[in-house]
Amino acid sequence: MSMCDDFMICNYNKCRTKLSGYAWVTACSHIFCDQHGSGEFSQSPAVCPACNNTLTGKLDIVRVELNPSDEYKAVVLAGLRPEIILDISSRAITFWTYQVMLNIFLNSFRKCFFGKFK
Ligand SMILES: [Zn+2]
Ligand SMILES: [Zn+2]
Repeated sequence: MSMCDDFMICNYNKCRTKLSGYAWVTACSHIFCDQHGSGEFSQSPAVCPACNNTLTGKLDIVRVELNPSDEYKAVVLAGLRPEIILDISSRAITFWTYQVMLNIFLNSFRKCFFGKFK
């Protein structure tokens, strides 16, 4: 898996499907497909199914569009100062890197225990 793979994987243990369309992102750096996000986070207080963190803040759970339109990209960070734009970008890259590392770890863990992956 390279840094350039253009998808992430649902962190719900039994799911792990490639994410597309909309996804649910948590403050504890986990990401879930629309099905598991809307299911798990409908209860109150919401609990992250990946790490059991309680998510109570207004921005602890955010539903994101994974392939936003050009219109959205044109305005979403417009008006912000460059250091804020870079701060947001670097946090998002950190999130991405964490997810890629997590997938590499889980894949090698599976290979180790179940032999060659089909
Ligand atoms: Zn899922
Ligand atoms: Zn979590």
